[in-house]
This record gives sequence, C-alpha cells and structure tokens, in this order.
Amino acid sequence: MSSPARRAAQLHTLLHDHSHRYYVLDDPSVSDAEYDALFRELQDLEDAHPELQTPDSPTQRVGAPPLAGFDSVEHAVPMLSLGNAFNREELIEFDRRVRERLERDEGTVQYVAEPKLDGLAISLRYEDGIFVQGATRGDGRSGENVTENLRTIEMIPLRLRTDQPPAVFEARGEVFMSHSAFAALNASMLEAGKPAFVNPRNAAAGSLRQLDSRKTAERRLSINLYGLGELQGIDTPPTQMAALDLLAELGFPVNPEIRLCDGIEACYEFHESIQLKRAELGYDIDGVVFKVDSLAEQRELGFVSRAPRWAIAQKFPAEEAQTVIDSVEFQVGRTGALTPVARLVPVFVGGVTVSNATLHNMDEIARKDIMIGDTVIVRRAGDVIPEVARVVLEKRGPNSRAIELPSQCPVCGSPVVNLGTEVKARCTGGLQCAAQRREAIKHFASRRAMDIDGLGDKLVEQLADADLIETVADLYTLNAEQLQSLPRMGEKSVGNLIKAIDKSRHATLARFLFALGIRDIGETGAALLAKQFGSLDALMQASEEELTRIDDIGPIAANSILSFFANPDNRAVVDALLAAGIELPATASAEVDTVLSGKTYVLTGTMSRFSRDEAKKRLQQLGAKVSGSVSSKTTAVFAGESPGSKVSKAESLNVPVLDENALQALLDSPEADPT
Ligand code: NAD
Repeated sequence: MSSPARRAAQLHTLLHDHSHRYYVLDDPSVSDAEYDALFRELQDLEDAHPELQTPDSPTQRVGAPPLAGFDSVEHAVPMLSLGNAFNREELIEFDRRVRERLERDEGTVQYVAEPKLDGLAISLRYEDGIFVQGATRGDGRSGENVTENLRTIEMIPLRLRTDQPPAVFEARGEVFMSHSAFAALNASMLEAGKPAFVNPRNAAAGSLRQLDSRKTAERRLSINLYGLGELQGIDTPPTQMAALDLLAELGFPVNPEIRLCDGIEACYEFHESIQLKRAELGYDIDGVVFKVDSLAEQRELGFVSRAPRWAIAQKFPAEEAQTVIDSVEFQVGRTGALTPVARLVPVFVGGVTVSNATLHNMDEIARKDIMIGDTVIVRRAGDVIPEVARVVLEKRGPNSRAIELPSQCPVCGSPVVNLGTEVKARCTGGLQCAAQRREAIKHFASRRAMDIDGLGDKLVEQLADADLIETVADLYTLNAEQLQSLPRMGEKSVGNLIKAIDKSRHATLARFLFALGIRDIGETGAALLAKQFGSLDALMQASEEELTRIDDIGPIAANSILSFFANPDNRAVVDALLAAGIELPATASAEVDTVLSGKTYVLTGTMSRFSRDEAKKRLQQLGAKVSGSVSSKTTAVFAGESPGSKVSKAESLNVPVLDENALQALLDSPEADPT
C-alpha cells in the first residue's frame, strides 16, 4: 500500500475509535483539538488524493449510529454536522464561497451568529401542539428515541404555547449542562465512588442517554433551540432570525447571545467579543455558528455530504491539551501560603505555550489524584491561570510518583505548618522568608496599594536579585545610580521611578494599611480602620475590643492586626517607612474606590476551597455586596456542590451561574473581573 493510502487507513481507524469513545461511550481519550487535527489531516489527504475518499470515510459521516438499548427514530429531515473554520482566513473563504454560489457580486450577506453550545443535538417533535417524540442526532439519518428522558427537562415545553398548533412541528437544538450542574453531578458521582465525567458535554450526553429516565431527571440538563425540522400546517419562516423568534414565541428557550451580523467582518467581531465573554456564560461553548439568515438562500446553497453549505462553525482555540508533569515546585506567596505548581512539558493551549500549571493545594492534588510523571489534561480558559484539569489514568506508568508537601519552606527553610482550618500549608518564616518579602514588596507597590507606577513584579524581582532591596522600606533608599545598574533601566525610566516612589510618600492611611499586607485586611477593611482610627499610632494602640467594634472587623481580623503590630520585624519595617518620610494624612479616604464595588453576588452550595463565610468575607473585602437571594440585580451566582434553588432562579433571570474556579479566579485577580 502506498504511504498516503496507509496513512488514510490509519486515520480511519483512529477516528472511528475516537468517535466510538466520544459518541457511544461518552468517554473520549483525546481532546477535541487533537481529534480535529486528525480529521483535518484526513480531509487534506482526501483532497490531494480523491480516490481515498471512500463512502465509509469519517469525513463523509455524521456522529455514530444509535445505541442498541434505545428504539431508533428516523429523522424526516436529516440532522447534519457543520463545516469548521479555525481562523479569520477560513471564515472569509467561507463567505467567498457563499457569495460565489449566490452570485452576489456586491453587498454583504446577512448571517446569524449563534454560540456553538457544547452539548448534543436533539430533535423535538410536536403533533397538534403536544410533545410526542424526542431523538438524538445519532448518525444524522436516525437517532435514539429519548422522549421520556427529554420529558424530564423542565425547560422543554410539553405543549406548544399557541391556540392554533400546527399538525407537525419539529424543533432542533442542543441539550447541555451548565457548569454548576456539572460540578454538582461530578461531586455526587465521586461521593458514590463512581468515575467523574470528563467535561460537561460528555456529562450531558451520558445523562440524556440513560435507560432509566429517573436518572436523567436528577441531572439538571439545560436546552436551547436553534433550528427547525419537519413542519406541517405552518409556513416556513423567511429567515433564521424569524425561525428563532417563532421558537421563542412557542415557548422554547433560545440563546440570548444570538445576533444578526451584516457581513463576514461583523461575524468575526462577534466571534472575538463572545470569546471574551466565554468564561462568564456559565456553560461551555466551543465556538460560534454562522448561518446564512435567508432560508431561501439556504435552500439555494444546499448541502455537501455531511454539512450544510450555508453554515460554518468557527471554533475557539483549544482550551485543553494533553502533556506530562515533569516536576512539582512549591511557590511561596505573600502570606506564606504554599502553592504547588506543576512544571510541564510545554504545550500549546488556549492560544499560548504553557509550561506551568497551578495545582492549587494538596487537597486538590488528592482529589484529582495527580502524580509527578502523569499524563494530564491542562486547561487554560481566557486569562485564568492554567490548571491541571485531570489525569489520563490509562497513561500512568510505573514511574509516576506521589507529590509530597515539603516540611520546610523551599525558600527559607522555616518549618511549614498545615493548620487544619486552612486549605493551604504555610511557611512560618514571615519576613525572614525571602519569598514572602518579595511578594510583600510586589503587593506594597501594586496599583491598589501604594500605586508606585513603573515598579512591576519583574522589577521587584530584579531589585531583590541584585540585593538592592530586602523590605519595602528599602524602596525609599534607592538612588539613581543603583537603578541604572539594572538591565533595561534607562535614565528616563529611572527618573520616572524615583518620582513615583517619592509620590508614594504622600499616600493615604487607608492605602498604607492595605499596602502593609496584614492578613485578613483587604481594601475595605483598611479603609474602615483608617476612618475609625484616623492615624497609624491610634490603630497600633487599639485593643481587640476597639477593633471588633468596627463593623466587618471580626475577631480573626482583629487578631491579625494585633499580631502584625506585635511582631518586632514588622514594627521595624513600619518604623523604617516612617523614618523614610512616609506621611499619613489623618484624614483618611474611607471612600476608596474598591475594585468590586457596585457588584452583588450570591453564594450557594458547598465550596471545596473555602467556607461560604470565608468566600463572603473576601468578596466584601473587595467591595462587593453578598446577598442571600437572587434578583435581576445580582451580578452572578457562585454555585458549589449541591446548590439549591438559587441556581434555577438565576437561570430564569438570566443571571450568570459560575463555579468555584471562577470564584477563585475572581478573588485571585479581581481586577480582571470576568463577572
Ligand atoms: P460539530 O460539533 O463540529 O458541529 C455540529 C454540531 O454543533 C451540531 O450537531 C450541534 O450539536 C452543535 N451545535 C451547537 N450549537 C449549534 C447551533 N447554534 N447551531 C447548530 N448546531 C449547533 O460537529 P459534530 O459532527 O457534532 O462533532 C464533531 C466534533 O466533535 C469534532 O470537531 C470534535 O471536536 C468532537 N469529537 C471529539 C472526539 C474526541 O475523541 N475528543 C471524537 C469525535 C468528535
């Protein structure tokens, strides 16, 4: 066999196997991007050698045949797949082909842009307005009869909302699982000693294709409708937009993000903008589907073997990729907290090359069963720090070894303690620890603290590496000559930096207190303390009782303040700062603009990384309100395991429901606020 033919045969086998795992077993062993790359390779091979394109090629087929356990349903109108575009050029090329076929020399084509929901396609059939049959896409011609399971999804109307129902009405759309439902399901699977689902798509597919519909009912599935199948006794609407309006009118949920785009450039802009919004949607989308709006033009364009010519899916860069953990290091944060970080064999994911991923803490490592040497799936969504999503256990070899929490700080050698009340272990070195000192300086200089313009994290590292600074007080002794000795520090930047440092001598008391980095004292707490005590002296002399008299300062925060000022190292730094000329006007700005002010969040369910009180307190410290009930004014709901009715309330009000990872991301970098 010649080598293209041999490769094509290999790709057939590989793609068939992957499809079987994905569609039939709901348990894929490769990421979608890897599957797509193999699929593309086969398509390119077939383009170059048309004789290799056999009717049974995966490029000519849709999905997989129905499962034997279900009755099969013939689709009156086939349910097809979609062509893919992976970049702007491919999208423009799609538009060019559409215009050529429609013989449109000028003017733009109207497209409907729809988020590509990552679930599974289904068809709902209504006769005389009553829901009679629901089916999966299957292989496009026939699918599985899952009527009883679909009946358990509350969002599906059992009767069309009209007095004059058509004889036959078939609505098509996607069943999917929200992030919060997915987290709750996986928590209960693990609790029951069963394997967790890999992602919400597989969980949705697995939940809908249950032989016992009581199981489906427990799974909180969602649905959005986006198309029509067979119609009898009702006119076909003139456009896709009109079809969506009709679906909404008849009582079906339609995705609220859908927009009409005038021309392909507008489509591209939509793709860019929804990509930024992706993390806050509360459900997975893996791209955008663009459809020619006019149904007459759709008919004119027709189909190729497995996909319509009038639509294309523009996929997002893959957010997940497979790689191997080389080693694990522990990073020490400002308050001494140890964060395990996996050093990875570099891998391209979410549009960048990733070589480190956070493992969060030891509990997470145990929960995900992560070992050094493991093959893992790394996930990087938006600007969120890359994390290890899961281990590919089948690929675990005999050389994989456990990750151990060091008993001594990897930076300063001080003992590491693991207080039962906290998730993270800590280095006890305090300001003796070089890592804690560096992080403390970065925090001190940051925009919301002393706001020293030009003194970013990298420069702090350089200054510390050159032994020019040890504590924050040393910043005020730096001179031009020392700064110019650093790489990439020209005269101008040195001058600007010195000015910025000097300016920070006149910061407010509130900023100064926040900048000190006292544990449990965020921006809001610092502002309240400044307002209440008016001067640093008064605060340093305050008793526990005086401190706790302030709203929002509980015994824990009061204790942190007392022990901060009782520590001689800290006192020495504060004295040195004052000696360096820091003035703290007694009129403190209590009205500091806090990063999350104006936002209202609701917390529900059990979080694994923080108690609800802790999460509440930290959000409040950032200026947010935390409310006990959901309303249309709620910015977002953060749902942990086993959330209550707040999630459905939020969904009904279109308030985003986010998971614990999103909460962690918000608390870690509130300025990048995705809510
Ligand atoms: P597709 O997912 O690329 O596109 C078609 C599907 O998109 C439709 O059937 C529908 O379910 C969905 N869709 C979501 N929103 C839609 C909307 N608004 N309008 C229309 N359709 C919408 O194609 P496919 O044939 O379902 O699956 C192929 C994809 O599945 C591959 O690209 C790959 O990513 C994945 N896959 C992965 C593996 C694996 O092993 N990881 C195996 C097989 C397939």
